[in-house]
Amino acid sequence: MENNLPLNVPEIFGSMVFNDSVMKERLPKEIFEVIQKSVKEGTPLDKKIANTVASAMKNWAVEKGVTHYTHWFQPMTGITAEKHDSFISPAPDGHIIMEFSGKELIKSEPDASSFPSGGLRATFEARGYTAWDPTSYAFIKDETLCIPSVFCSYGGQILDKKTPLLRSIEAIDKHAMRIINLFGNPTNAKHIIATVGAEQEYFLIDKELYNEREDLIICGRTLFGSKPPKGQEMEDHYFGIIKPRVAAFMRDLDIELWKLGVLAKTKHNEVAPSQHELAPIYSDTNTATDHNQLTMETMKKVAGKHGLACLLHEKPFAGVNGSGKHNNWSISTDTGINLLDPSDSPMENSQFLLFLAAVVKGVDEYQDLLRVAVTGAGNDHRLGANEAPPAIVSMFLGDELDEIIKSIKNDEVYIQKDKQVMKSNVAAIPRFAKDTTDRNRTSPFAFTGNKFEFRMLGSTASIACPNTILNTVIADQLSQFADILENANDFDTELHELIKKTFTEHSRIIFNGNNYSDEWVAEAERRGLLNLRTTPEALPHYISKKNIDLFERHRIYTEEELNSRYEILMDNYCKIIHIEALTMLEMVKKDIFPAICAYMNDLSSTAANKRAVVSDLACELEIGLIKKISALSDSLNKKCATLESAVLGIDDDSDINTKALYNKDVVFVAMQEMRAVTDELETITAKDYWPFPTYTQLLYGV
Ligand code: ADP
Ligand code: MG
Repeated sequence: MENNLPLNVPEIFGSMVFNDSVMKERLPKEIFEVIQKSVKEGTPLDKKIANTVASAMKNWAVEKGVTHYTHWFQPMTGITAEKHDSFISPAPDGHIIMEFSGKELIKSEPDASSFPSGGLRATFEARGYTAWDPTSYAFIKDETLCIPSVFCSYGGQILDKKTPLLRSIEAIDKHAMRIINLFGNPTNAKHIIATVGAEQEYFLIDKELYNEREDLIICGRTLFGSKPPKGQEMEDHYFGIIKPRVAAFMRDLDIELWKLGVLAKTKHNEVAPSQHELAPIYSDTNTATDHNQLTMETMKKVAGKHGLACLLHEKPFAGVNGSGKHNNWSISTDTGINLLDPSDSPMENSQFLLFLAAVVKGVDEYQDLLRVAVTGAGNDHRLGANEAPPAIVSMFLGDELDEIIKSIKNDEVYIQKDKQVMKSNVAAIPRFAKDTTDRNRTSPFAFTGNKFEFRMLGSTASIACPNTILNTVIADQLSQFADILENANDFDTELHELIKKTFTEHSRIIFNGNNYSDEWVAEAERRGLLNLRTTPEALPHYISKKNIDLFERHRIYTEEELNSRYEILMDNYCKIIHIEALTMLEMVKKDIFPAICAYMNDLSSTAANKRAVVSDLACELEIGLIKKISALSDSLNKKCATLESAVLGIDDDSDINTKALYNKDVVFVAMQEMRAVTDELETITAKDYWPFPTYTQLLYGV
């Protein structure tokens, strides 16, 4: 970093992680093996083992200058939470020793009352528990030993995003194994792992300019700002040369992430000016989720050190692209076979086609849930705005798979691209080669050769919920398939029938065309696909009977837990709009009104002074501007009053969905109208008077 020593990446990688190699080195062999077994098979660890692990962890951490530990968990806020306790423990003669017991490792009791619970737990029932999740490595951050943990209430209801994710990982493992076994399990796999690689987009702007914008500080996005003369139309930023200040940030970021064991791999400029992306190498879902949280946190921290602010909001600037997070997802055996990788052999092709059928059916039947998985006030600005996939969930499979599915549905012979007729009879599965299809960048859920890229996620959100939903939905399909095939008399025939039936019934979800076009919106409607444009429209689907049943069937959430999540997400939406509206009102009243008044005042005195010298001067410029600004400021005054009464008009007694719809239809609309007038005023107000940095300064200031 500061010094010029060559960087020894293998040495720094994972240096802050209590990983297998550290455990192997520091734990007795038999204990290390018990832990490995526990992690692989989900068996609980006893107290004696926990004591040994805790002590080894503490010694390792203390050697690295660590003084505190924390259970690091992921409450429903969407970010992570931590409460630091020091290792100190009193010893005779006024001394202390550094201590960390198995009990402290396994369980902690944070006061749960200040975390969102969606009515699950009244504030007087404050007790909550965090419990060590040994399937994700402990690590050191900010001189603190962080222990990845789950979080639940005294009554056992889950209060975090991690627990359901872990449950969904188990569900997909269980049911995908059933399928693998039906195909003979040639590699002798014991587990199926859902793998995830989350590509993270973000903006970097100058910290001093950031500090001058109350909207960025409070809401994470600009609530005002007229379009800059140059946006992204020249298409010169994507993959463009990285500026030195950004490059220095990216290098530091990589180093910090590598220390934490995050497999930071790819970095590049994104489409919008000052927008960038980081992609890691994929890992198991649990690790990927923890690492994405750490990535976002580290981005903000490292940016600060470089005099920059990292914006993770989905739509920091109107008029240029917002930021998303592409969730690359696949399933593989613990022996390393990717189950979504079409192979060249017909038998494995048929296994692949069955998994593909499960995904097609799952995405079709649970399109509502996938849409729910990516809701949020921030992401509502992106989905459907011709920069991100639309709010309509559909799948892209590419031409070749499409042809194959067509031939299966019609009992036709599949002719490969190179025109060789496959010698297969009707009942056999066609043989095909892998990865011969093009990309589709507009699809919400695209097959990319050996994985699916779920592209609707917003940049801020935790990836826990989308992956919980994805894993559960696919686990459910696989369990249905396994139920049928495990009882099949003639496996091949019934397999073929099942694949054919599934593709026939669920083809409507497949769309290989341009998802940004208006024709698709009309076509999707004809196909009966859902178009849930906003959060308040999408979220009620979370708690539909079909979806409650799904989650209960796989013991992911109880109905009560699901209802609480619905409440939290709706409430969160309302709060975000509310805070944004209040911030706008404050900025208009305290900054914009005084600024334009001062400008008009100076224009008036200029005109008056000029006329004092030459009485018949036209003063067209001054008078023209005064008239225009005065008219616009009167209009702004009205819009301000409208927004104010919209905010006051919320009926606190109404149910949460009504409140959310009101926020969307009344408050948000009033915000947009007020913004339009303000942005126009910005274009005619002299630079020295306008109280905030402009879009040009923000987007081109680094
Ligand atoms: P693409 O060109 O499709 O974007 P990349 O190889 O750049 O493909 O991968 C994009 C992201 O997908 C990376 O984070 C990568 O690690 C991840 N990825 C690749 N293979 C898998 C897989 N089998 N499961 C989950 N994610 C994967
Ligand atoms: Mg990609």
